[in-house]
Amino acid sequence: MLSAIEQMDSVVFDLIQQEQTRQANSIRMIPSENYVSKAVMQATGSCLTNKYAEGYPGKRYYEGQQITDQIENLARDRAKKLFSAEAANVQPHSGSPANLATYLALIEPGSTIMGLALPHGGHLTHGWKVSYTGQFFNSVQYELNPATGRLDYDKIADLAKQHKPKILISGSSAYPRAIDFSKFDEIAKSVGAYHVSDMAHIAGLVAGKVHMSPIPYADVVTTTTHKTLRGPRGGMILCKEEYIKAINKSVFPGMQGGPHMHTISALAVALGEALSPNFADYAAQIVANAKRLAEKLMEYGFDLVSGGTDNHLILMDLRNKGLTGKPLAKALDRAHIVMNYNSVPGDTAGPFNPSGLRMGTPAITTRGMKEEQMELIARWINTVCDNLENEDVINKCGKEVQELCAQFPLPDSFVQPQ
Ligand SMILES: *Cc1c(COP(=O)(O)O)cnc(C)c1O
Repeated sequence: MLSAIEQMDSVVFDLIQQEQTRQANSIRMIPSENYVSKAVMQATGSCLTNKYAEGYPGKRYYEGQQITDQIENLARDRAKKLFSAEAANVQPHSGSPANLATYLALIEPGSTIMGLALPHGGHLTHGWKVSYTGQFFNSVQYELNPATGRLDYDKIADLAKQHKPKILISGSSAYPRAIDFSKFDEIAKSVGAYHVSDMAHIAGLVAGKVHMSPIPYADVVTTTTHKTLRGPRGGMILCKEEYIKAINKSVFPGMQGGPHMHTISALAVALGEALSPNFADYAAQIVANAKRLAEKLMEYGFDLVSGGTDNHLILMDLRNKGLTGKPLAKALDRAHIVMNYNSVPGDTAGPFNPSGLRMGTPAITTRGMKEEQMELIARWINTVCDNLENEDVINKCGKEVQELCAQFPLPDSFVQPQ
């Protein structure tokens, strides 16, 4: 597949090969990352990258759409089927533009939006001040309960009553617990707000029915397509029929020009995979793995925000170890275990060296790892944490990690060929 690159540009070829090796030989635990199937990968590298298709199926601004219309309709139909959604827009280039397009479809710039604060697990685009969503709108941010590390629905309701947002956003990038979307909907309705739910991290868990779906409880649901959903990098908006006209207009021509048809074709493939019966097993194993990993880490004395996990991710609070996240994340990376440092609720350390570590199981579960391997991983994390300055120990862990990786090669596909 890469032979043309090898012939034409050995520099880029070599870099891609190095990245492929890195991905194969490390335990990748950044919870927003995954491995896609070869089928999804090949669709993203197909001739569809050559095609302009501004507009929507049946109503384009360029000719030659005999095939693109079929592909986009297929992706939309599969998305609607998978999530039982009334309507879908599969054109957002990624999760962030999907969110901005959604806000601008529903409300005016300057209106009040309310989302989870970034240091408490919210996403930049939920109104954090460095994001345009925190600048174009009057942003009010809710926080987790610092004592429990959990969403406090009564407090969110009080804040909503006080500020009367036009949009209430549910969803998170670093929240290890189940989210009750019905409660968000109740709060939104009680103040006349739209409920926008961003299921970027958990879309695969929702598709696999191991997390409550936001679809019945939100006016509009946004998502990325490349996290637990295991598709190409991209974004998607699912909504009730009554909003799709405004959403479509907001995505194109409001936010974007031409859709990335190669990505949309890959999304159709990924949604096909997610519609296959074994995807539910994958989703369930992601959660089982995260739970076992959490248990083992707590046995080693690690403090986990909220005391565990219900989903694919774990947020570790290192303050009881007298540590911050960055040195541990860097030492783990040297041992080929890749995760990211992250703020924890109530963190007073800055965003460049916060007190937490965020890790997740979607990618390692794709490789076929199970509970047994989670126990090994917990042990390595603990060993590296106790030996931050000891390169010999870190190297030894790294060797063991690579041996484990060799036993779990990247699968080419996740479904039976048709
Ligand atoms: C990852 C993420 C996004 C946006 O993703 P990009 O594709 O990186 O723009 C939006 N919302 C949430 C909750 C996320 O976790």
